Amino acid sequence: MNEEIENVLNIAHSPEQPLHVDWVNSSDISVTVKRDDLLHAIISGNKWRKLKYALLEILTSSEVNKRLEIISFGGGFSNHIHALAYCCHQLKKQGRTVSFTAIIRGDYSANLTPMLDDIISWGAKIEYVDRLTYKKRNDQAYLDSLKSKLINRSDSKVFIIPEGGSQHSALLGLTELIDELNGEYDYILCPVASGGTMAGLIRATEQLATKIVGVAVLKGRDYLEQLVAEFLPPACDFNNSNWTIEHDFHFGGYAKKNHDLIKFCQEFSADAKIVIEPVYSGKLFFALKHLITHNYFPSDSRILVIHTGGLQGARGDYSK
Ligand SMILES: *Cc1c(COP(=O)(O)O)cnc(C)c1O
Repeated sequence: MNEEIENVLNIAHSPEQPLHVDWVNSSDISVTVKRDDLLHAIISGNKWRKLKYALLEILTSSEVNKRLEIISFGGGFSNHIHALAYCCHQLKKQGRTVSFTAIIRGDYSANLTPMLDDIISWGAKIEYVDRLTYKKRNDQAYLDSLKSKLINRSDSKVFIIPEGGSQHSALLGLTELIDELNGEYDYILCPVASGGTMAGLIRATEQLATKIVGVAVLKGRDYLEQLVAEFLPPACDFNNSNWTIEHDFHFGGYAKKNHDLIKFCQEFSADAKIVIEPVYSGKLFFALKHLITHNYFPSDSRILVIHTGGLQGARGDYSK
């Protein structure tokens, strides 16, 4: 099943590529990029890492002829909803009876985003909810009511995947990323939003001397540390272990951007020939440059940056 699902969805292997930059103080360190943005043309890199084991669990836990009802949550530009809707569409093409309902924060019915357009074309059902309802996305009573509303046939089974796809089984996908690496690294950098990706990387490198540096893409000092720590066993407590989150690169909040960031994204994309966007990878590489030029990394450090993908979202206007 493990390989089969990658074949069905046409997932590629992501390359590990040296990055040559001529930033101040960049000459005595080495930077490599793990190109998870190239895993798939549509399924965003880290969303695949996180969804793979959730989908495997769903597919193996029920008989082939059961109807699968999958529910998940996101905003109008969500890479997670986009990736999941596409996966469900492909599984349907393979003959599985899968239906996907996206619970979307805000009402975009009169003004669809490119992401919502796509998922409608892939057969997803959308339920728009207001912010207050959306806040209940992890409350058991609300989830039960959603389940009973959707489960209108006795031969179906309902699965709820949390916002961002950051459930516990998601962490295994990040172990695969680490197992794939050819090089050895002193630092691994990744963006942090719901914390699942970073937590997976911390778990997967527990036995190594690698330090994981998260770059917060939203305002969340302490809150993000807590989110990540909730995924970790107590021994990985954030006070004493090998990870840290940098909070100076969110540009005012989630999907917030300014002229400097946009210019950086354009120049970096052209120079390095690696496309980045302002919501995740732009803030990540902006942080990388700042940290290198300010001598954050000791000489001879080997740094790996995880390009988590997310380019579909770049089609929209995030500031809405
Ligand atoms: C969702 C997303 C992230 C954030 O990952 P978390 O596991 O939620 O912290 C980073 N990069 C991209 C491209 C994403 O779509």
